[in-house]
Amino acid sequence: MLMQALQDLRNLNKEEITALCRELGWQSFRGGQVFSWVHAKGAASIEEMTNLSREQRQQLSEQYEIAPLVLLDSWQGDGGDTIKFLWQLADGNTVEQVLMFYAGENSRDRVSTCVSTQTGCAMGCKFCATAMCGRGRNLTVGEIVGQILLANGWSRNHGKPSITNVVYMGMGEPFANWDNVKKSLQILNDKNGLNIGWRRMTVSTCGLADKIKELAVEEFPLELSVSLHSADDEIRMALMPINKKYPLAVLMQACDAFTEKTGRRITYEYALFRDVNDRREDAEKLVRLLGGRLAFVNLIPANPVEEAGFFPSKRERIKEFADILEKNHIAVAVRVSRGQDIEAACGQLKRRNQGGDPKENVGKKAEV
Ligand code: SAH
Repeated sequence: MLMQALQDLRNLNKEEITALCRELGWQSFRGGQVFSWVHAKGAASIEEMTNLSREQRQQLSEQYEIAPLVLLDSWQGDGGDTIKFLWQLADGNTVEQVLMFYAGENSRDRVSTCVSTQTGCAMGCKFCATAMCGRGRNLTVGEIVGQILLANGWSRNHGKPSITNVVYMGMGEPFANWDNVKKSLQILNDKNGLNIGWRRMTVSTCGLADKIKELAVEEFPLELSVSLHSADDEIRMALMPINKKYPLAVLMQACDAFTEKTGRRITYEYALFRDVNDRREDAEKLVRLLGGRLAFVNLIPANPVEEAGFFPSKRERIKEFADILEKNHIAVAVRVSRGQDIEAACGQLKRRNQGGDPKENVGKKAEV
């Protein structure tokens, strides 16, 4: 008999799980139960679904499983407030995820996780450690949602609050895997799942303008972050090859369409690299580009990628850059870089694990 590979239940949304239970001949409320086990409680196996009968669990297991994400390694930084996970997927590929705890305003803690959408990245940004991991493959819906479910379980097991925010800013380009990313967002947003609000989910792109336009047309209500890094076509082209396909004028047109349709302010990520994009004239160009637009600039002290010749800007330079934006009424924040002591920038951990960077002694291993 030909053995068929088991399918990952985490790939399925509520409608699909409900349809599956119906096909199995179960009562209609079973769909909700199974969905809740998979996407709210974060069950690691069908065996855990104890409100199903043993026969039902057996029946489900004949075609389905919950594909494991194996924790290869994890590190803690920032006094335990930043945890980095390295997951191994069923095919042996690895991806990174970061979990960050922020002390609450109004006694509400923010727990944010930064998830991967691909095992590498084809976009080729010159300063990015993930790009150096190669093109990789798209993650499945289950592999994306699984990261959040497992990190949530980790948090619970350590007496910490549940995840409140998800940022698609780990390894990969989310818009290059949009179908799976979109479905994962819908699952995370489901009231019977983790019920994470649209405003608490951010997708970050290197600038795939066509997809941004699509979001505008669909009026997809998520938070959008655009990795800009330069307001000058020539510099941006040298940093980010995608700028050849979608130069700034095209990108900004798409961004305008998005803000017009959704009324949402876009966050522009701008990592400051010493003497590359951090000079006064660079700040002034950024003012000219974003002036009059509904924009928020996130200035990121860059993570050094020394082998590629990128070094972080000096602190005074970052402050000067921020001051120029502020004086010109561009909303700006300097992001406090989390996880520097554990190399929490995308791709850095994976590369080290692959032997890409021999640096040792990075942070303390987390107990899992
Ligand atoms: N592909 C998406 C999301 C993943 S990258 C995107 O480009 O937005 C997440 C963020 O980290 C992006 O803003 C990316 O430009 C930034 N980044 C990559 N390498 C960096 C580095 N060395 N220093 C600072 N930020 C970096």
